[in-house]
Amino acid sequence: MDNVYDVIVIGGGGAGVMAAAAAAEAGARTAILCKEPVGYGNTRMSVGMAACADIDQDSRQHFIEDIMKSGEGLSNRQLVETLVDDSRKAMAFLEKFGHTFIRNKDGQLSGDVISRAGGHTHPRTLRSSGSGIGMGQALRSATEKYNIHRIEDTAALSILKEKDRVYGVRVLDLATSLEYELAASAVVLATGGGGWLFYPQTTNNRGSCGDGYVLAYHAGAKLMDMEQIQAIPFGITHPSAYRGLICGEPFVTGPAGRVLDGQGNVVLEEGMNRLGRAEVVRAMASPIQEGRTTRDGGLLLDMEPNLYHPKGSQHRDQIMATGITATVLTAYGKKAYNWEEPWSVLPTVHFFMGGVHVDNNTTSHIPNLFAAGEVMGGVNGGNRLGSVALTEILVFGLRAGQAAASYAKRNQVRQKTNLEKRQSPLIDSDGKNRPVLLCQRLQKLMWQHAGLMRSREGLFKALKAVKELKKEAQDLRISNEKVYNSALRDAIELHFMLEAAELVLNAALLREESRGAHIRSDFPEKGGANWEKNTLLWKDSNGKLAHLLREVPK
Ligand SMILES: Cc1cc2nc3c(=O)[nH]c(=O)nc-3n(C[C@H](O)[C@H](O)[C@H](O)COP(=O)(O)OP(=O)(O)OC[C@H]3O[C@@H](n4cnc5c(N)ncnc54)[C@H](O)[C@@H]3O)c2cc1C
Repeated sequence: MDNVYDVIVIGGGGAGVMAAAAAAEAGARTAILCKEPVGYGNTRMSVGMAACADIDQDSRQHFIEDIMKSGEGLSNRQLVETLVDDSRKAMAFLEKFGHTFIRNKDGQLSGDVISRAGGHTHPRTLRSSGSGIGMGQALRSATEKYNIHRIEDTAALSILKEKDRVYGVRVLDLATSLEYELAASAVVLATGGGGWLFYPQTTNNRGSCGDGYVLAYHAGAKLMDMEQIQAIPFGITHPSAYRGLICGEPFVTGPAGRVLDGQGNVVLEEGMNRLGRAEVVRAMASPIQEGRTTRDGGLLLDMEPNLYHPKGSQHRDQIMATGITATVLTAYGKKAYNWEEPWSVLPTVHFFMGGVHVDNNTTSHIPNLFAAGEVMGGVNGGNRLGSVALTEILVFGLRAGQAAASYAKRNQVRQKTNLEKRQSPLIDSDGKNRPVLLCQRLQKLMWQHAGLMRSREGLFKALKAVKELKKEAQDLRISNEKVYNSALRDAIELHFMLEAAELVLNAALLREESRGAHIRSDFPEKGGANWEKNTLLWKDSNGKLAHLLREVPK
């Protein structure tokens, strides 16, 4: 039957395509469904830098310990070890589809083509030819090679479940506004993160609305560390169309870069290039909160001292080669791009460290529901090291596809799905509220109360406001246009975003300390070993949100 698969992968970024390709290679009849074209997502927007094991003088142990240290006590060691041990294999798998990591003149991944990204003790970061776009193209060609059924412009609405197993996905075709069901023996979630909850203060693309967390939650999976949301310290503040775009991170600042407040006082001295993202953001949060900012609410990143530093110009050449500062040229002009003028910068939401709780094979609490990539939790704890996300999506995408195919081989789906296609019930709704305006109110609220700095009072305020927005979201205005009705997509994403916001806010209330990316003004200190615990959230048998603080597995 047309709508029955061994494996359905939800999400067509790097993790999703790796999973689909691995499942298809293992002989599974595989479909990949995505709101966007396959090969897009944050993966395509990325700089394409990926940390890899076995490079030059690096060792397995150093790589593992760097990630563990960066995670501030919350990373799962077994997942981290797997990421390191499988990294070479996963990158070779991607290169089969035409992607290339840049090599030296002898064709080796070695020497000065390898970068040392911030917080890494050794150079181990590979650069991609064609950056994230090159990666996206290769991923798309992987789906051609394996004859994977691509179902694009289609959003997963819910995961179908009976007893303790999932058996398919209910979807909405955004091109026609028709809903229908697909059956599968195993489902892989690869829906990416939730940075769009904070737009415009995010580097993420519009598809990152946190759908996967909500799909997993309602299917009965557990979520972990949802409060740990990384902001990258240096985002553009103006013009408004550029707000939130990444223009650098700690290692970019070189040996002599500094951060100043709006009055020119030093916030961060030279040498911050060796700090992690969370440490730099923590230092920037107070002056921003106290209003010691530039006119547009940012701080100043002064790169000029590098021009007089003995190692400054060599560093500048390396940074320019990554393309990470390209936005500075168009936003702030040539002088700033040449490091002769400071850049106005504000931290911008970048990555969800938390997510679906999975084991080493990416299995969630449901035996045939898997999760890989940014939607999974466990690897990065409280703070992700630069260039580890792409490694994570490749490694765990591959594992998820293999595990899902193996499950499907042993257990074929028996439940019947509804073959009937019916128009979305939201089409032609004549309520009061435009979904996009409710989205904007939610995003503002989330940046204000769950963005840089949080407090019990602010989090409760936000939860109350989300409850109100949920009521208003029951009364939407959506036209009767059936072809690519943008308000319909807004409405679907609004519902996911409202629920994802509640998950984030509840997890943030649980952690009464400041750790990693989670900064509480009412609990400004790190809570010690007592707080080296993961926050877990799930839906209990009465349909209510349940939570637990659990020791991090050693
Ligand atoms: C600007 C930028 C630069 C970055 N640079 C780097 C870097 O150089 N190195 C690094 O390690 N990391 C980097 N990252 C982080 C990294 O790119 C991401 O964490 C990673 O690409 C996520 O991959 P993914 O496959 O999990 O999700 P994505 O690539 O985001 O793919 C998820 C897909 O799922 C789709 N989807 C979501 N919900 C649904 C639904 N309900 N139904 C159907 N489809 C759905 C989305 O539309 C999307 O296409 C960067 C991120 C950004 C934003």
